[in-house]
Amino acid sequence: MSIEDLARANVRALTPYQSARRLGGNGDVWLNANEFPLPVPFELSQQTLNRYPECQPKQVIERYAAYAGVTPEQVLVSRGADEGIELLMRAFCEPGKDAILFCPPTYGMYSVSAETIGIEYRTVPALENWQLNLPAIAEQLDGVKVVYLCSPNNPTGNLINQDDIRQLLAMTAGKALVVADEAYIEFCPDATLAGWLQAFPHLVILRTLSKAFALAGLRCGFTLANKPVIDLLMKVIAPYPLATPVADVAGQALSEQGIALMRQHVAELNANRAWLCEQLPPLGVVQQVFPSETNYILARFSDSPKVFKTLWDQGIILRDQNKNPGLAGCLRISIGTRKECERLIAALQALSLEQA
Ligand code: PMP
Repeated sequence: MSIEDLARANVRALTPYQSARRLGGNGDVWLNANEFPLPVPFELSQQTLNRYPECQPKQVIERYAAYAGVTPEQVLVSRGADEGIELLMRAFCEPGKDAILFCPPTYGMYSVSAETIGIEYRTVPALENWQLNLPAIAEQLDGVKVVYLCSPNNPTGNLINQDDIRQLLAMTAGKALVVADEAYIEFCPDATLAGWLQAFPHLVILRTLSKAFALAGLRCGFTLANKPVIDLLMKVIAPYPLATPVADVAGQALSEQGIALMRQHVAELNANRAWLCEQLPPLGVVQQVFPSETNYILARFSDSPKVFKTLWDQGIILRDQNKNPGLAGCLRISIGTRKECERLIAALQALSLEQA
């Protein structure tokens, strides 16, 4: 038997997540991974690497709970929100029996994690306005244990209507978890569902330090839920999910100054997004710019492969969304520094003139 044949069938068939880093590129303007454009400096305060870390570092848990407005027992910290996505499947879904459900176009890791573990995934495409198709979801719920919503949604940038989420929570009560992925919630903090946890035992919220906190390289994310859910996730999590330096930096990022700095960064990016939303629509190559509540903008272009390639060759790297359902001709643009936004617009202006 070849090594390939030894592998699980679902792993042989698996297409791994095409992360921006795996796709590569030789850019100097990276607008393809929804990262914060500039590094935030930190110093390590601990010299205890001879010891194993705490499984759930107390300071990080307490600070995140205070920041999110929940209790410490409602918080789990993990290796990015991506690990949270997978822990939920591992704790709640029986491979080969239970299913998860999500509504494309949306974040790619829900399907990749399900495929890796061997869990069926069902998709109910979002409506044309990218809201939930509730009647279609209701028809597909049989055997579903976890429904993943992304709000604001990656890559479309819109929030999911709260009334619809309430209806979904009513529909799934006692049957399935509803997971609200709030990776980008800092860009529209009023929209968080964290205040709903008390009312809904089956609601779960995912958060991360990768976006507004400018710490994508740290790999630190959070799951917010009531204690029975957290206790189950604690059974399947690795013994030491967070390296000591990660907990150290996360604790600093969640200090009062750390949170104030994050809010300042969010204000800067939101201003840059508003500027891009003015600059993009008049350009000849731009067909449509979708409103966004996040640190990225989705736009439809008249010849998106050409736009993507021309910018790529100039070192401006965007994220192609052509293969995402309903997003033909669309590219996703992460909001960079004002200079980076200006370089993007100048490049698109040149292309538009050339086409005219
Ligand atoms: N959810 C969404 C919607 C995301 O866009 C991302 C980042 N790619 C994640 C979760 C994962 O975040 P993390 O870096 O914390 O694993």
